Amino acid sequence: MPSPSPPSGAACIFCEIAAHRAPGYVLYEDADTIAFLDLYPFTRGHFLVVPRRHGARLADLDEADRIALMHTVDRMCRRVGRLAPDYNLALNAGAAAGQIVFHVHFHVIPRYGEANPFHPRPRVALDPEDAGRVVATLAAP
Ligand code: AMP
Ligand code: ZN
Repeated sequence: MPSPSPPSGAACIFCEIAAHRAPGYVLYEDADTIAFLDLYPFTRGHFLVVPRRHGARLADLDEADRIALMHTVDRMCRRVGRLAPDYNLALNAGAAAGQIVFHVHFHVIPRYGEANPFHPRPRVALDPEDAGRVVATLAAP
């Protein structure tokens, strides 16, 4: 199923920032990627790493753009240590996962000891029977 894109005619805010048509606090950019501060940060220094070319999800990017994106994620995850040694790296893929901007992006969130937003409720131990079904689904090539 194709991933959602902005309706035709509607500007994608991350495409606009990547093209410097909209403002952004840019931390890094190269021919294929750009990193800029999140406008509504979870923590001080929370930023996003974004491919220049539009795609809603990783699978919508071509392989060269996926590789370029991961290189910039790696570069910026090393750089975030200037703010804090600990950080979260997150990607929300799809509305059910909390994606609100449908231009693929990684969040890099420096952590200073706040409660973990990725643990919203207590977790229960893996059920072995269901684990078998999940393995059958995901381990198949
Ligand atoms: P997601 O829920 O993964 O789609 O996250 C989208 C992120 O984009 C949110 O954390 C927003 O705060 C952030 N955001 C939305 N608009 C802008 C903008 N114009 N500049 C920077 N960050 C933005
Ligand atoms: Zn876009």
